[in-house]
Amino acid sequence: MQQILHLKLLPAEAMDEQLLRLQIARASGQQIDQLTGFQILKRSIDARGRQAWIMVSLLAFFNEPFLHRETATFHFRDVSRAPRRVIIIGAGPAGLFAALKLIEAGIQPLLLERGKDVRARRRDLALLNKEGIVQPDSNYCFGEGGAGTYSDGKLYTRSNKRGDVNRILGLLVHFGARENILYDAHPHIGTNKLPQIITAMRQGILDCGGIFQFEKKVTDLRLENDRIAEVMTADGDRIAADAVILATGHSARDIFELLHRKGILIESKPFALGVRIEHPQTLIDRIQYHCMPAGMSMGSPPLRPALLPPASYSLVEQFRGKGVFSFCMCPGGIIAPAATNPGEIVVNGWSPSKRDNPFANSGIVISVENKDIPDFSGYGPLAAMKFQESVEQRAYQLGGGRMVAPAQRMDDFVSHRISSSLPHCSYLPGIRSVSLHDVLPVFVSEGLCHAFKAFGKKMKGYFTNEAVLVATESRTSSPVRIPRDAAGLQHPHITNLYPCGEGAGYAGGIMSAAMDGERVAEVLARKLAS
Ligand SMILES: Cc1cc2nc3c(=O)[nH]c(=O)nc-3n(C[C@H](O)[C@H](O)[C@H](O)COP(=O)(O)OP(=O)(O)OC[C@H]3O[C@@H](n4cnc5c(N)ncnc54)[C@H](O)[C@@H]3O)c2cc1C
Repeated sequence: MQQILHLKLLPAEAMDEQLLRLQIARASGQQIDQLTGFQILKRSIDARGRQAWIMVSLLAFFNEPFLHRETATFHFRDVSRAPRRVIIIGAGPAGLFAALKLIEAGIQPLLLERGKDVRARRRDLALLNKEGIVQPDSNYCFGEGGAGTYSDGKLYTRSNKRGDVNRILGLLVHFGARENILYDAHPHIGTNKLPQIITAMRQGILDCGGIFQFEKKVTDLRLENDRIAEVMTADGDRIAADAVILATGHSARDIFELLHRKGILIESKPFALGVRIEHPQTLIDRIQYHCMPAGMSMGSPPLRPALLPPASYSLVEQFRGKGVFSFCMCPGGIIAPAATNPGEIVVNGWSPSKRDNPFANSGIVISVENKDIPDFSGYGPLAAMKFQESVEQRAYQLGGGRMVAPAQRMDDFVSHRISSSLPHCSYLPGIRSVSLHDVLPVFVSEGLCHAFKAFGKKMKGYFTNEAVLVATESRTSSPVRIPRDAAGLQHPHITNLYPCGEGAGYAGGIMSAAMDGERVAEVLARKLAS
Protein backbone atom coordinates (compact mmCIF):
# COMPACT_ATOMS: atom_id res chain seq x y z
CA MET A 1 0.00 0.00 0.00
CA GLN A 2 1.17 3.54 -0.76
CA GLN A 3 -0.04 6.60 1.11
CA ILE A 4 0.63 10.33 0.71
CA LEU A 5 0.96 11.99 4.12
CA HIS A 6 1.20 15.66 5.12
CA LEU A 7 2.97 16.01 8.46
CA LYS A 8 3.57 18.94 10.79
CA LEU A 9 6.71 18.05 12.73
CA LEU A 10 9.07 19.43 15.31
CA PRO A 11 12.53 20.01 13.80
CA ALA A 12 13.95 17.00 15.69
CA GLU A 13 11.19 14.74 14.32
CA ALA A 14 11.81 15.91 10.75
CA MET A 15 15.60 15.61 10.82
CA ASP A 16 15.99 12.28 12.65
CA GLU A 17 15.11 9.29 10.45
CA GLN A 18 13.94 7.06 13.31
CA LEU A 19 11.70 9.75 14.78
CA LEU A 20 10.35 10.53 11.32
CA ARG A 21 9.50 6.86 10.72
CA LEU A 22 7.67 6.85 14.04
CA GLN A 23 5.63 9.89 13.00
CA ILE A 24 4.82 8.31 9.62
CA ALA A 25 3.55 5.17 11.32
CA ARG A 26 1.51 7.22 13.78
CA ALA A 27 -0.07 9.43 11.07
CA SER A 28 -0.89 6.49 8.80
CA GLY A 29 -2.26 4.21 11.49
CA GLN A 30 0.18 1.46 10.35
CA GLN A 31 2.81 -0.40 12.38
CA ILE A 32 6.35 0.97 12.04
CA ASP A 33 7.68 -2.44 10.88
CA GLN A 34 5.20 -2.37 7.97
CA LEU A 35 6.86 0.80 6.60
CA THR A 36 9.23 -0.30 3.80
CA GLY A 37 10.35 3.18 2.76
CA PHE A 38 9.28 6.72 1.99
CA GLN A 39 10.08 9.52 -0.42
CA ILE A 40 9.85 13.15 0.66
CA LEU A 41 7.87 15.18 -1.89
CA LYS A 42 7.95 18.61 -0.27
CA ARG A 43 9.57 20.14 2.81
CA SER A 44 9.28 23.65 4.21
CA ILE A 45 9.75 25.54 7.47
CA ASP A 46 6.89 27.40 9.13
CA ALA A 47 8.51 29.84 11.57
CA ARG A 48 5.62 32.26 11.88
CA GLY A 49 4.82 31.32 15.48
CA ARG A 50 7.09 30.97 18.50
CA GLN A 51 7.46 27.25 17.78
CA ALA A 52 8.96 26.54 14.36
CA TRP A 53 7.44 23.59 12.51
CA ILE A 54 8.70 21.54 9.60
CA MET A 55 5.96 20.77 7.10
CA VAL A 56 6.64 17.54 5.22
CA SER A 57 4.65 15.89 2.45
CA LEU A 58 5.80 12.37 1.64
CA LEU A 59 4.88 9.17 -0.11
CA ALA A 60 5.06 6.20 2.27
CA PHE A 61 5.15 2.51 1.29
CA PHE A 62 3.71 -0.17 3.57
CA ASN A 63 3.98 -3.93 3.06
CA GLU A 64 5.31 -3.58 -0.47
CA PRO A 65 8.77 -2.92 -1.93
CA PHE A 66 9.80 0.74 -1.81
CA LEU A 67 10.19 2.25 -5.30
CA HIS A 68 11.81 5.67 -5.67
CA ARG A 69 9.64 7.79 -7.99
CA GLU A 70 11.74 9.56 -10.66
CA THR A 71 10.88 13.24 -11.17
CA ALA A 72 12.54 13.49 -14.59
CA THR A 73 14.39 11.26 -17.06
CA PHE A 74 16.98 12.25 -19.67
CA HIS A 75 18.02 10.68 -22.96
CA PHE A 76 21.40 12.03 -23.99
CA ARG A 77 22.55 11.01 -27.46
CA ASP A 78 25.90 10.65 -29.19
CA VAL A 79 26.17 13.86 -31.21
CA SER A 80 29.83 13.56 -32.20
CA ARG A 81 28.82 12.98 -35.85
CA ALA A 82 25.55 14.86 -35.79
CA PRO A 83 24.70 16.57 -39.09
CA ARG A 84 23.65 19.75 -37.29
CA ARG A 85 25.77 21.97 -35.06
CA VAL A 86 24.65 25.02 -33.09
CA ILE A 87 27.01 27.62 -31.64
CA ILE A 88 26.22 28.64 -28.07
CA ILE A 89 27.97 31.81 -26.95
CA GLY A 90 28.32 31.72 -23.16
CA ALA A 91 28.53 28.69 -20.84
CA GLY A 92 26.37 30.01 -17.99
CA PRO A 93 23.21 28.18 -16.87
CA ALA A 94 21.34 29.24 -20.04
CA GLY A 95 24.13 28.05 -22.35
CA LEU A 96 24.81 24.78 -20.47
CA PHE A 97 21.16 23.72 -20.23
CA ALA A 98 20.63 24.69 -23.89
CA ALA A 99 23.58 22.42 -24.77
CA LEU A 100 22.11 19.47 -22.85
CA LYS A 101 18.75 19.93 -24.54
CA LEU A 102 20.36 20.08 -27.99
CA ILE A 103 22.18 16.83 -27.22
CA GLU A 104 18.87 15.19 -26.32
CA ALA A 105 17.60 16.37 -29.73
CA GLY A 106 20.64 14.92 -31.55
CA ILE A 107 22.31 18.27 -32.33
CA GLN A 108 25.96 19.01 -31.57
CA PRO A 109 26.50 22.08 -29.36
CA LEU A 110 29.69 24.12 -29.74
CA LEU A 111 30.11 26.26 -26.61
CA LEU A 112 32.29 29.36 -26.88
CA GLU A 113 33.13 30.77 -23.44
CA ARG A 114 35.25 33.90 -22.90
CA GLY A 115 36.30 32.79 -19.41
CA LYS A 116 38.26 29.87 -18.02
CA ASP A 117 37.14 26.47 -16.71
CA VAL A 118 35.94 26.40 -13.10
CA ARG A 119 39.26 25.34 -11.63
CA ALA A 120 41.40 27.99 -13.37
CA ARG A 121 38.72 30.55 -12.62
CA ARG A 122 39.06 29.94 -8.88
CA ARG A 123 42.62 31.33 -8.93
CA ASP A 124 41.42 34.58 -10.52
CA LEU A 125 38.73 34.92 -7.86
CA ALA A 126 41.35 34.49 -5.14
CA LEU A 127 43.39 37.30 -6.72
CA LEU A 128 40.31 39.47 -6.90
CA ASN A 129 39.42 38.91 -3.24
CA LYS A 130 42.98 39.21 -1.90
CA GLU A 131 44.55 41.85 -4.15
CA GLY A 132 41.52 43.61 -5.59
CA ILE A 133 42.62 42.79 -9.15
CA VAL A 134 39.77 42.02 -11.55
CA GLN A 135 40.41 40.03 -14.74
CA PRO A 136 37.99 41.26 -17.43
CA ASP A 137 37.32 37.75 -18.77
CA SER A 138 37.56 35.70 -15.58
CA ASN A 139 35.65 36.86 -12.52
CA TYR A 140 32.42 36.21 -10.57
CA CYS A 141 30.35 36.73 -13.74
CA PHE A 142 32.57 35.34 -16.52
CA GLY A 143 33.91 31.81 -16.85
CA GLU A 144 32.59 28.25 -16.99
CA GLY A 145 29.11 28.03 -15.45
CA GLY A 146 28.71 31.81 -15.81
CA ALA A 147 27.55 33.91 -12.88
CA GLY A 148 25.94 30.70 -11.54
CA THR A 149 29.16 28.87 -10.61
CA TYR A 150 30.45 30.90 -7.69
CA SER A 151 26.96 32.10 -6.85
CA ASP A 152 24.93 31.14 -3.83
CA GLY A 153 23.15 28.42 -5.75
CA LYS A 154 19.71 29.32 -4.47
CA LEU A 155 17.37 27.56 -6.84
CA TYR A 156 14.24 29.64 -6.34
CA THR A 157 12.01 30.57 -9.19
CA ARG A 158 8.66 32.24 -9.54
CA SER A 159 7.84 29.90 -12.42
CA ASN A 160 4.93 27.60 -11.70
CA LYS A 161 5.74 25.29 -14.60
CA ARG A 162 6.45 22.39 -12.26
CA GLY A 163 7.51 20.03 -15.06
CA ASP A 164 10.21 22.43 -16.30
CA VAL A 165 11.39 23.22 -12.76
CA ASN A 166 11.61 19.52 -11.86
CA ARG A 167 13.58 18.82 -15.03
CA ILE A 168 16.24 21.43 -14.16
CA LEU A 169 16.45 20.25 -10.55
CA GLY A 170 16.56 16.65 -11.78
CA LEU A 171 19.43 17.49 -14.12
CA LEU A 172 21.34 19.14 -11.28
CA VAL A 173 20.86 15.99 -9.17
CA HIS A 174 21.91 13.86 -12.17
CA PHE A 175 25.17 15.84 -12.24
CA GLY A 176 25.83 15.53 -8.51
CA ALA A 177 23.60 17.88 -6.49
CA ARG A 178 22.00 16.44 -3.33
CA GLU A 179 18.46 15.09 -3.67
CA ASN A 180 16.97 17.48 -1.11
CA ILE A 181 16.87 20.21 -3.80
CA LEU A 182 14.03 18.19 -5.37
CA TYR A 183 11.71 18.70 -2.41
CA ASP A 184 12.92 21.62 -0.28
CA ALA A 185 10.73 24.71 -0.62
CA HIS A 186 13.85 26.92 -0.84
CA PRO A 187 16.54 24.72 -2.38
CA HIS A 188 20.15 25.84 -2.09
CA ILE A 189 23.37 24.23 -3.29
CA GLY A 190 26.18 26.49 -2.02
CA THR A 191 29.26 27.96 -3.65
CA ASN A 192 31.54 25.15 -2.49
CA LYS A 193 29.42 22.46 -4.21
CA LEU A 194 28.54 24.19 -7.49
CA PRO A 195 31.94 23.86 -9.25
CA GLN A 196 31.84 20.02 -9.07
CA ILE A 197 28.35 20.02 -10.56
CA ILE A 198 29.38 22.37 -13.38
CA THR A 199 32.45 20.20 -14.07
CA ALA A 200 30.26 17.09 -14.24
CA MET A 201 27.91 18.87 -16.66
CA ARG A 202 30.84 19.76 -18.91
CA GLN A 203 32.06 16.16 -18.80
CA GLY A 204 28.56 14.92 -19.65
CA ILE A 205 28.41 17.27 -22.65
CA LEU A 206 31.90 16.25 -23.83
CA ASP A 207 31.12 12.53 -23.40
CA CYS A 208 28.20 12.92 -25.80
CA GLY A 209 30.34 14.67 -28.41
CA GLY A 210 29.57 18.30 -27.57
CA ILE A 211 32.44 20.80 -27.89
CA PHE A 212 33.72 23.34 -25.34
CA GLN A 213 36.18 26.13 -26.10
CA PHE A 214 37.37 28.24 -23.17
CA GLU A 215 39.07 31.66 -23.34
CA LYS A 216 37.18 32.08 -26.60
CA LYS A 217 35.71 35.56 -26.50
CA VAL A 218 33.28 36.40 -29.29
CA THR A 219 34.11 39.87 -30.55
CA ASP A 220 32.35 40.16 -33.90
CA LEU A 221 29.64 38.70 -36.11
CA ARG A 222 29.70 38.56 -39.91
CA LEU A 223 26.22 39.11 -41.25
CA GLU A 224 24.93 38.01 -44.65
CA ASN A 225 21.55 39.52 -45.35
CA ASP A 226 19.40 38.51 -42.38
CA ARG A 227 21.68 35.77 -41.03
CA ILE A 228 24.86 35.37 -39.00
CA ALA A 229 27.31 33.78 -41.43
CA GLU A 230 30.28 33.68 -39.08
CA VAL A 231 31.07 34.24 -35.43
CA MET A 232 34.50 35.85 -34.89
CA THR A 233 36.59 35.47 -31.75
CA ALA A 234 39.30 37.59 -30.11
CA ASP A 235 42.01 35.11 -31.14
CA GLY A 236 41.11 35.42 -34.82
CA ASP A 237 38.88 32.36 -35.35
CA ARG A 238 35.92 32.60 -37.71
CA ILE A 239 33.29 29.96 -37.10
CA ALA A 240 30.42 29.32 -39.50
CA ALA A 241 27.02 28.85 -37.97
CA ASP A 242 23.71 27.13 -38.75
CA ALA A 243 22.31 28.97 -35.78
CA VAL A 244 23.66 30.93 -32.82
CA ILE A 245 22.30 30.90 -29.27
CA LEU A 246 23.45 34.11 -27.59
CA ALA A 247 23.59 33.44 -23.83
CA THR A 248 26.21 35.93 -22.71
CA GLY A 249 24.62 37.14 -19.45
CA HIS A 250 23.80 40.59 -18.12
CA SER A 251 27.40 41.75 -17.75
CA ALA A 252 28.60 41.31 -21.36
CA ARG A 253 28.51 45.03 -22.14
CA ASP A 254 30.80 44.53 -25.11
CA ILE A 255 28.21 42.21 -26.68
CA PHE A 256 25.44 44.78 -26.25
CA GLU A 257 27.73 47.39 -27.81
CA LEU A 258 28.63 45.04 -30.66
CA LEU A 259 24.97 44.36 -31.48
CA HIS A 260 24.19 48.08 -31.40
CA ARG A 261 27.17 48.88 -33.63
CA LYS A 262 26.06 46.24 -36.11
CA GLY A 263 22.60 47.74 -36.26
CA ILE A 264 21.03 44.65 -34.63
CA LEU A 265 17.95 45.73 -32.72
CA ILE A 266 18.30 45.90 -28.92
CA GLU A 267 16.24 47.80 -26.34
CA SER A 268 16.96 49.55 -23.05
CA LYS A 269 15.18 47.81 -20.16
CA PRO A 270 14.53 48.55 -16.47
CA PHE A 271 16.85 46.96 -13.93
CA ALA A 272 17.20 47.33 -10.16
CA LEU A 273 19.89 49.23 -8.27
CA GLY A 274 20.80 49.64 -4.63
CA VAL A 275 23.15 48.30 -2.00
CA ARG A 276 23.99 45.02 -0.28
CA ILE A 277 23.15 45.05 3.40
CA GLU A 278 24.90 42.89 5.96
CA HIS A 279 23.65 42.04 9.48
CA PRO A 280 25.03 39.59 12.04
CA GLN A 281 23.34 36.26 11.23
CA THR A 282 22.51 35.78 14.92
CA LEU A 283 20.39 38.92 14.81
CA ILE A 284 18.40 37.71 11.77
CA ASP A 285 17.97 34.30 13.44
CA ARG A 286 16.62 35.89 16.61
CA ILE A 287 14.18 38.05 14.70
CA GLN A 288 12.91 35.34 12.37
CA TYR A 289 12.76 32.55 14.93
CA HIS A 290 11.25 34.85 17.59
CA CYS A 291 13.96 34.31 20.15
CA MET A 292 15.14 37.84 20.97
CA PRO A 293 14.72 38.11 24.76
CA ALA A 294 14.30 41.59 26.18
CA GLY A 295 17.58 43.23 27.11
CA MET A 296 19.65 40.91 24.98
CA SER A 297 22.45 42.67 23.10
CA MET A 298 23.54 42.02 19.52
CA GLY A 299 26.75 40.35 20.58
CA SER A 300 24.99 37.69 22.67
CA PRO A 301 25.48 34.03 21.72
CA PRO A 302 23.39 32.41 18.95
CA LEU A 303 19.88 31.52 19.92
CA ARG A 304 18.71 29.74 16.76
CA PRO A 305 16.58 26.75 17.68
CA ALA A 306 18.62 23.56 17.26
CA LEU A 307 18.41 21.87 13.83
CA LEU A 308 16.95 24.87 12.06
CA PRO A 309 18.97 26.50 9.27
CA PRO A 310 20.27 30.09 9.46
CA ALA A 311 17.21 32.26 8.90
CA SER A 312 16.52 34.26 5.76
CA TYR A 313 14.08 37.05 4.94
CA SER A 314 12.25 38.56 2.02
CA LEU A 315 11.10 42.17 2.26
CA VAL A 316 9.30 44.59 0.01
CA GLU A 317 8.02 48.13 0.49
CA GLN A 318 6.41 50.63 -1.89
CA PHE A 319 7.97 54.05 -2.43
CA ARG A 320 6.43 56.58 -4.85
CA GLY A 321 4.88 53.84 -6.94
CA LYS A 322 8.00 51.66 -7.04
CA GLY A 323 8.90 48.53 -5.14
CA VAL A 324 11.99 48.55 -2.92
CA PHE A 325 12.80 44.91 -2.27
CA SER A 326 15.33 42.48 -0.89
CA PHE A 327 17.15 40.51 -3.55
CA CYS A 328 19.28 37.35 -3.45
CA MET A 329 19.36 37.06 0.35
CA CYS A 330 22.29 34.94 1.55
CA PRO A 331 22.04 33.60 5.12
CA GLY A 332 25.48 32.70 6.53
CA GLY A 333 26.99 34.33 3.47
CA ILE A 334 29.76 36.49 2.08
CA ILE A 335 29.56 39.70 0.05
CA ALA A 336 31.41 39.15 -3.22
CA PRO A 337 33.18 41.60 -5.56
CA ALA A 338 31.24 40.94 -8.78
CA ALA A 339 32.69 43.62 -11.09
CA THR A 340 33.77 42.61 -14.58
CA ASN A 341 36.07 45.55 -15.27
CA PRO A 342 38.74 47.40 -13.33
CA GLY A 343 37.50 50.78 -12.14
CA GLU A 344 34.01 49.74 -11.09
CA ILE A 345 32.49 48.32 -7.89
CA VAL A 346 29.71 45.75 -8.05
CA VAL A 347 28.69 43.61 -5.10
CA ASN A 348 26.68 40.43 -4.88
CA GLY A 349 26.43 37.60 -2.36
CA TRP A 350 27.11 33.91 -1.93
CA SER A 351 27.10 31.33 0.82
CA PRO A 352 28.60 27.87 1.33
CA SER A 353 26.31 24.84 1.49
CA LYS A 354 26.33 24.94 5.32
CA ARG A 355 25.65 28.66 5.40
CA ASP A 356 27.89 28.87 8.43
CA ASN A 357 29.44 32.32 8.06
CA PRO A 358 28.51 34.77 10.82
CA PHE A 359 26.82 37.27 8.47
CA ALA A 360 23.48 37.56 6.66
CA ASN A 361 23.58 39.66 3.49
CA SER A 362 21.01 40.71 0.94
CA GLY A 363 20.64 43.15 -1.93
CA ILE A 364 18.14 45.94 -1.24
CA VAL A 365 17.21 47.49 -4.57
CA ILE A 366 14.75 49.71 -6.40
CA SER A 367 13.77 49.63 -10.04
CA VAL A 368 15.43 52.05 -12.48
CA GLU A 369 13.42 53.00 -15.55
CA ASN A 370 14.37 55.19 -18.49
CA LYS A 371 12.23 58.05 -17.17
CA ASP A 372 14.46 58.13 -14.03
CA ILE A 373 17.63 58.72 -16.07
CA PRO A 374 16.85 61.42 -18.67
CA ASP A 375 20.55 62.48 -18.79
CA PHE A 376 21.37 59.13 -20.40
CA SER A 377 18.70 59.16 -23.11
CA GLY A 378 21.33 60.10 -25.71
CA TYR A 379 22.69 56.54 -25.43
CA GLY A 380 19.46 55.14 -26.88
CA PRO A 381 19.10 51.43 -26.11
CA LEU A 382 22.30 51.52 -24.05
CA ALA A 383 20.94 54.24 -21.70
CA ALA A 384 20.29 52.01 -18.67
CA MET A 385 23.58 50.17 -19.18
CA LYS A 386 25.59 53.42 -19.34
CA PHE A 387 23.83 54.71 -16.24
CA GLN A 388 24.56 51.43 -14.41
CA GLU A 389 28.23 51.70 -15.42
CA SER A 390 28.48 55.32 -14.23
CA VAL A 391 27.17 54.45 -10.74
CA GLU A 392 29.61 51.52 -10.47
CA GLN A 393 32.50 53.81 -11.49
CA ARG A 394 31.50 56.43 -8.93
CA ALA A 395 31.49 53.73 -6.26
CA TYR A 396 35.00 52.71 -7.31
CA GLN A 397 36.29 56.28 -7.07
CA LEU A 398 34.76 56.80 -3.62
CA GLY A 399 36.06 53.44 -2.44
CA GLY A 400 39.54 54.63 -3.30
CA GLY A 401 40.72 51.74 -5.52
CA ARG A 402 41.69 48.04 -5.30
CA MET A 403 38.02 47.03 -5.20
CA VAL A 404 37.55 48.63 -1.77
CA ALA A 405 33.80 49.30 -1.60
CA PRO A 406 32.12 52.42 -0.21
CA ALA A 407 30.03 51.61 2.86
CA GLN A 408 27.93 53.17 5.61
CA ARG A 409 26.08 51.96 8.66
CA MET A 410 22.31 51.73 8.19
CA ASP A 411 21.07 54.30 10.69
CA ASP A 412 23.90 56.67 9.66
CA PHE A 413 22.79 56.38 6.03
CA VAL A 414 19.17 57.16 6.88
CA SER A 415 20.27 60.06 9.14
CA HIS A 416 22.74 61.42 6.53
CA ARG A 417 25.67 60.98 8.92
CA ILE A 418 29.07 59.62 7.88
CA SER A 419 29.86 56.51 9.93
CA SER A 420 32.73 57.18 12.31
CA SER A 421 33.58 53.47 12.25
CA LEU A 422 32.39 50.47 10.27
CA PRO A 423 31.56 47.03 11.66
CA HIS A 424 33.48 43.95 10.56
CA CYS A 425 32.23 42.98 7.10
CA SER A 426 32.56 39.80 5.02
CA TYR A 427 33.55 41.69 1.83
CA LEU A 428 37.17 40.63 1.48
CA PRO A 429 38.70 43.52 -0.54
CA GLY A 430 37.63 45.86 2.28
CA ILE A 431 35.16 48.70 2.84
CA ARG A 432 35.57 52.42 3.35
CA SER A 433 33.28 54.81 5.20
CA VAL A 434 31.67 57.35 2.86
CA SER A 435 28.24 58.88 2.41
CA LEU A 436 26.43 56.46 0.10
CA HIS A 437 24.21 59.40 -0.89
CA ASP A 438 27.25 60.52 -2.92
CA VAL A 439 27.28 57.18 -4.76
CA LEU A 440 23.59 56.59 -5.42
CA PRO A 441 21.19 58.83 -7.32
CA VAL A 442 18.66 60.63 -5.11
CA PHE A 443 15.65 58.58 -6.25
CA VAL A 444 17.48 55.41 -5.21
CA SER A 445 18.81 56.61 -1.85
CA GLU A 446 15.46 58.19 -0.88
CA GLY A 447 13.70 54.92 -1.68
CA LEU A 448 16.21 52.96 0.37
CA CYS A 449 15.92 55.30 3.39
CA HIS A 450 12.14 54.96 3.33
CA ALA A 451 12.32 51.18 2.99
CA PHE A 452 14.89 50.60 5.74
CA LYS A 453 12.67 52.34 8.29
CA ALA A 454 9.64 50.36 7.11
CA PHE A 455 11.60 47.08 7.16
CA GLY A 456 12.56 47.86 10.76
CA LYS A 457 8.85 47.91 11.65
CA LYS A 458 8.17 44.63 9.84
CA MET A 459 11.19 42.89 11.35
CA LYS A 460 11.88 44.34 14.83
CA GLY A 461 15.64 44.78 15.18
CA TYR A 462 16.38 44.89 11.43
CA PHE A 463 16.84 48.69 11.43
CA THR A 464 20.10 48.99 13.35
CA ASN A 465 23.47 50.65 13.10
CA GLU A 466 24.98 47.16 13.51
CA ALA A 467 24.05 46.65 9.85
CA VAL A 468 26.34 47.92 7.13
CA LEU A 469 25.38 48.93 3.58
CA VAL A 470 27.89 48.23 0.81
CA ALA A 471 27.55 49.79 -2.66
CA THR A 472 26.69 48.95 -5.34
CA GLU A 473 24.21 46.18 -5.96
CA SER A 474 23.76 46.92 -9.63
CA ARG A 475 23.87 43.66 -11.62
CA THR A 476 20.46 42.44 -10.57
CA SER A 477 19.19 41.89 -14.08
CA SER A 478 20.07 42.99 -17.58
CA PRO A 479 19.77 46.68 -18.46
CA VAL A 480 19.23 45.66 -22.11
CA ARG A 481 16.73 43.42 -23.86
CA ILE A 482 17.56 41.64 -27.07
CA PRO A 483 14.15 41.19 -28.69
CA ARG A 484 12.98 37.88 -30.08
CA ASP A 485 9.93 36.49 -31.81
CA ALA A 486 7.41 35.22 -29.25
CA ALA A 487 6.89 31.84 -30.91
CA GLY A 488 10.06 31.19 -32.93
CA LEU A 489 12.35 32.78 -30.28
CA GLN A 490 14.71 34.09 -32.98
CA HIS A 491 15.73 37.74 -33.25
CA PRO A 492 13.11 39.67 -35.29
CA HIS A 493 15.68 40.73 -37.91
CA ILE A 494 18.45 38.09 -37.71
CA THR A 495 16.77 34.79 -38.43
CA ASN A 496 19.43 32.42 -37.04
CA LEU A 497 20.19 34.41 -33.87
CA TYR A 498 18.52 33.15 -30.67
CA PRO A 499 18.87 35.60 -27.74
CA CYS A 500 18.69 33.59 -24.52
CA GLY A 501 18.91 33.80 -20.73
CA GLU A 502 19.41 36.70 -18.36
CA GLY A 503 21.53 38.88 -20.64
CA ALA A 504 18.88 38.94 -23.32
CA GLY A 505 16.27 39.89 -20.72
CA TYR A 506 14.37 36.57 -20.49
CA ALA A 507 15.53 35.29 -17.12
CA GLY A 508 16.54 36.41 -13.65
CA GLY A 509 18.44 33.75 -11.74
CA ILE A 510 19.87 30.30 -12.27
CA MET A 511 16.60 28.40 -12.63
CA SER A 512 14.91 30.76 -15.06
CA ALA A 513 18.12 31.09 -17.14
CA ALA A 514 18.40 27.30 -17.30
CA MET A 515 14.74 26.95 -18.27
CA ASP A 516 15.11 29.62 -20.95
CA GLY A 517 18.16 27.78 -22.32
CA GLU A 518 16.12 24.59 -22.59
CA ARG A 519 13.19 26.37 -24.18
CA VAL A 520 15.29 28.09 -26.85
CA ALA A 521 17.14 24.85 -27.64
CA GLU A 522 13.88 22.92 -27.93
CA VAL A 523 12.30 25.41 -30.35
CA LEU A 524 15.52 25.64 -32.37
CA ALA A 525 15.86 21.84 -32.55
CA ARG A 526 12.30 21.54 -33.87
CA LYS A 527 13.10 24.12 -36.56
CA LEU A 528 16.32 22.43 -37.61
CA ALA A 529 14.50 19.09 -37.85
CA SER A 530 11.77 20.44 -40.14
C1 LIG B 1 27.85 36.22 -6.74
C2 LIG B 1 26.55 35.85 -7.40
C3 LIG B 1 25.58 35.15 -6.68
C4 LIG B 1 24.39 34.77 -7.27
N1 LIG B 1 23.51 34.00 -6.56
C5 LIG B 1 22.42 33.49 -7.18
C6 LIG B 1 21.57 32.58 -6.51
O1 LIG B 1 21.81 32.19 -5.37
N2 LIG B 1 20.48 32.11 -7.18
C7 LIG B 1 20.18 32.51 -8.46
O2 LIG B 1 19.17 32.06 -9.01
N3 LIG B 1 20.97 33.38 -9.11
C8 LIG B 1 22.09 33.86 -8.51
N4 LIG B 1 22.91 34.72 -9.19
C9 LIG B 1 22.52 35.11 -10.55
C10 LIG B 1 22.74 33.97 -11.53
O3 LIG B 1 24.03 33.50 -11.41
C11 LIG B 1 22.42 34.44 -12.94
O4 LIG B 1 21.07 34.84 -12.95
C12 LIG B 1 22.60 33.33 -13.96
O5 LIG B 1 23.90 32.83 -13.92
C13 LIG B 1 22.30 33.86 -15.39
O6 LIG B 1 22.54 32.84 -16.29
P1 LIG B 1 22.91 33.12 -17.82
O7 LIG B 1 23.36 31.81 -18.38
O8 LIG B 1 21.78 33.80 -18.50
O9 LIG B 1 24.14 34.14 -17.82
P2 LIG B 1 25.54 34.07 -17.10
O10 LIG B 1 25.52 33.14 -15.97
O11 LIG B 1 25.92 35.48 -16.86
O12 LIG B 1 26.50 33.43 -18.19
C14 LIG B 1 26.93 34.12 -19.32
C15 LIG B 1 28.23 33.50 -19.81
O13 LIG B 1 28.57 34.09 -21.07
C16 LIG B 1 29.96 34.29 -21.13
N5 LIG B 1 30.25 35.37 -22.09
C17 LIG B 1 29.93 36.68 -21.98
N6 LIG B 1 30.36 37.36 -23.08
C18 LIG B 1 30.94 36.46 -23.89
C19 LIG B 1 31.58 36.56 -25.15
N7 LIG B 1 31.71 37.75 -25.79
N8 LIG B 1 32.10 35.43 -25.71
C20 LIG B 1 32.01 34.23 -25.06
N9 LIG B 1 31.41 34.09 -23.85
C21 LIG B 1 30.88 35.19 -23.28
C22 LIG B 1 30.32 34.68 -19.71
O14 LIG B 1 31.69 34.48 -19.45
C23 LIG B 1 29.42 33.77 -18.89
O15 LIG B 1 30.05 32.56 -18.58
C24 LIG B 1 24.12 35.13 -8.62
C25 LIG B 1 25.07 35.85 -9.35
C26 LIG B 1 26.27 36.22 -8.75
C27 LIG B 1 27.29 36.99 -9.54
